[in-house]
Amino acid sequence: MRTVLDARTSSGYGSRSRGGMHSVLDVETALAAADTAAQLRDRLAAGEKLSGPGARRALTAAATTPRFEGRIVPATFAKKAATFLARDGAILFDNPDAMLIRAFKRDNALCEPGSGATAPRQHDCQPGCGNTVRTDTHARQLRERADEIDQLAASSPCPLGKRLRANAGRLRETADTHDATAQPAEALK
Ligand code: SF4
Repeated sequence: MRTVLDARTSSGYGSRSRGGMHSVLDVETALAAADTAAQLRDRLAAGEKLSGPGARRALTAAATTPRFEGRIVPATFAKKAATFLARDGAILFDNPDAMLIRAFKRDNALCEPGSGATAPRQHDCQPGCGNTVRTDTHARQLRERADEIDQLAASSPCPLGKRLRANAGRLRETADTHDATAQPAEALK
């Protein structure tokens, strides 16, 4: 998909125009958001539960975001992508490093995006954000990461090992919070 997209939008990159570059970024962001929504739909269909303050919005976004897999993206999609991304509160952004999804709503975001921003400022991510959502898969991944960190801690010198174990403990606490608060899709409707 990305290869097709790059071919179709190469003139935008080549011109180095601000509009062209923004259009390409809009298209890529919209496609990534659609992938995240599709993945969430698959997890919900498999019976996974959701937790987090953005859970209801994520459920709506998963149900209303179109699928793009396997489809050719025409150059005219850029305008549609910009319109799609402007739906504040209804766009899903994956954050695999933090093992969560954001149902991005500007006013809820603690990373202080600008007034017209259509995407989070991930490098300034703050804990406790009202946009976050986790699935059962995320909780499992948190525990797997915690186990890996504990293994590292076992072969690390004392001060570092202690910090690593504390980090692993925080990840497990986050997974436990998910388990204690997560709800099935039917309960969130
Ligand atoms: S604060 Fe973090 S979780 Fe919230 S929207 Fe910004 S980047 Fe996403």
